Amino acid sequence: MHFSYYEPNSANEAVEILRGPHGTFKALAGGTDVLINLRRRAVAYDGLVNVKRIPGMTEWSAGPGEGLRIGASVPFGELEASTEVADRYPALVEAIKVIGSLQLRNLATIGGNLCNASPAADSAPALLAAHATATYVNGAGGPSTIPVEQFFVGPGRSIVGATGLLLGVDVPEPASMTGSCFQRFTPRDAMDIAIASACSQVTLEPGTGRMDDVAIALGAVAPTPMRAGRAEEALLGREPTPELLAQAGALAAGECSPIDDIRGSASYRRSLVEVLVRRTLETAIARALGA
Ligand SMILES: Cc1cc2nc3c(=O)[nH]c(=O)nc-3n(C[C@H](O)[C@H](O)[C@H](O)COP(=O)(O)OP(=O)(O)OC[C@H]3O[C@@H](n4cnc5c(N)ncnc54)[C@H](O)[C@@H]3O)c2cc1C
Repeated sequence: MHFSYYEPNSANEAVEILRGPHGTFKALAGGTDVLINLRRRAVAYDGLVNVKRIPGMTEWSAGPGEGLRIGASVPFGELEASTEVADRYPALVEAIKVIGSLQLRNLATIGGNLCNASPAADSAPALLAAHATATYVNGAGGPSTIPVEQFFVGPGRSIVGATGLLLGVDVPEPASMTGSCFQRFTPRDAMDIAIASACSQVTLEPGTGRMDDVAIALGAVAPTPMRAGRAEEALLGREPTPELLAQAGALAAGECSPIDDIRGSASYRRSLVEVLVRRTLETAIARALGA
């Protein structure tokens, strides 16, 4: 069988090959999902399109006051190694650090994690809670930018489809008195995927200590990573109390839609969400207060 391999130098060229009439091609970044599926013969393609030579894909920057701009093919290991990223985006680094192993994270990219579109993708809740946006090309038009929560269409399906390309992710600079925290539950400490995960980001109003902005994101408990809107609403504008945070956990558990599978029942996942949301809120608030 003839198998092609391309290394295009522009996004347009890559999209042209992916859309081309010459067969079914697959974008390739770190390969930690694609190559494993190919080797297991779970999928069959006519070739691979390595996207890492496209300008900007492997670059990232975190200038003061500018937020964090991450090219889609930046490996997690680079972000994890930055003290600047850890200081300003602790939840994102917490999420990155649980992904696979250090060796895996030196290959695996943020774009591959999002485009693989697993409901359990660990970077997704952290990006949702941080109000991140995704920039992508799909078809002939220019790039589009959307909130990351709109990027996921269903399990294994993202807005870029089979022929589009994610170019990068932008994470806004956190306001002052903002804290964030990501936690996931897995039966094993490492090399496992989440049975449930949660990420909370809270901004407190200086002076009153009320919750000015709250974002709660959940992973592995719905067809796509999701925001827990009702839990967020219950907290907005109020001073945090243990009862209120526990109530938010219960609301989040009620609004997710987990499945029963071999790794955990739906009711077990809901119980996990209740606990993880409360705990991530507690830590996010403590961090917002400078703890
Ligand atoms: C042992 C092991 C442990 C793992 N542990 C975890 C874990 O704990 N948590 C977790 O979330 N994941 C985990 N994964 C899954 C995987 O490592 C991640 O999803 C990883 O981020 C994928 O990135 P990649 O660069 O290797 O993607 P690739 O395998 O190169 O690509 C993944 C998908 O994204 C598409 N793609 C890649 N880049 C683009 C782009 N720029 N535009 C459009 N499409 C693109 C590809 O076509 C493919 O469909 C694990 C995998 C293994 C093998």
